[in-house]
This record gives sequence, C-alpha cells and structure tokens, in this order.
Amino acid sequence: MVDERSAGAVVVFMPSDSGKPEYLLLHYTAGHWDFPKGNIEAGETEKEAAAREIREETGIADVEFVEGFRQIISYRYRKARRLVDKEVVLFLVRTKTRDVKISHEHIGFAWKNYDDAIKQLTYRNARNLLEAAMQFMEKEKPPAA
Ligand code: ATP
Repeated sequence: MVDERSAGAVVVFMPSDSGKPEYLLLHYTAGHWDFPKGNIEAGETEKEAAAREIREETGIADVEFVEGFRQIISYRYRKARRLVDKEVVLFLVRTKTRDVKISHEHIGFAWKNYDDAIKQLTYRNARNLLEAAMQFMEKEKPPAA
C-alpha cells in the first residue's frame, strides 16, 4: 500500500543559442537534490498536480507536457517512528522560463546540463529517470537535415 503520492516533472529549458538542454533541480531542506514535485491533492489529476507544484515551487507557469512520458519512482523513508511508502509520478515538460523563484520549501535550485544534473541528483532512481527522460526527448527530435 502506498502512503504518499506525489507528482512532478523533469523540467527542461532549451537555450535559444541552440546550446544543450538544461534541467531544473531543487535542493530540498532534507538535503537531497531532486526534481520539482509535491503531494497530489484530492480532485486533481496527476498532471494538474505536477503543473501546480512546479508553479508553486519555482514560479514557472508555462509548462508544455511532452506527450507519452510518465514514469514512477517508488521509495520508502522514515518519518518519526513510521515507515512511509511513497510513489512519485514524473512527467517531462518543456518551459521557456529560465527565471526561477523558489518557495520556502527549498533551499536552492540549479539549471544543469545532462552530465552535471546526473552528478547533482542524490538518488539513483532519480538519475535513472533523468536518463530515461533524456532518451525519450532524443527519440522525439526530428532527424537533422
Ligand atoms: P514532496 O516534494 O513530494 O512533497 P517531501 O519534500 O515531503 O516530498 P521527499 O522529497 O519525498 O519529501 O523526501 C522525504 C524523504 O525521502 C527524505 O528523507 C529524502 O531523503 C528521501 N527521499 C527522497 N527522494 C528519494 C528517492 N528517490 N529515493 C529514496 N529516498 C528518497
């Protein structure tokens, strides 16, 4: 049984000088680096929750979902004396906004290219997910002329 369900996304910014894609990571107060995400509230779809959390946590309001990408990360953590089984549904979104205003829920943020994002992410399951998202985007790209 799952105790907590959150939704979030790999948020990608494409620099206009056709440089490398940048991925948005947040520094959580607990110490880890992860994607923007948060609790799915009653009556919300997973995508609505992901878009709302991105807006609340980063100020980014323009997100375009890349159709067909939806992956789940599962983990268990200890909250006081209780073990919490958690599932996080992650989407892939593009944004044109690079300006980020983090909320009090986090202590920092960073836009990172793929290699640096892989180094920064704390958990292996998040690194695996970023790899899958990057490969999904590569497949989507129109072939070079
Ligand atoms: P949310 O952003 O979903 O509201 P939160 O900020 O309350 O979540 P989490 O990011 O889920 O909390 O972190 C809760 C605990 O789980 C922390 O101790 C964190 O280190 C650990 N944790 C977070 N992500 C993972 C993961 N991918 N794998 C294992 N443990 C994780």
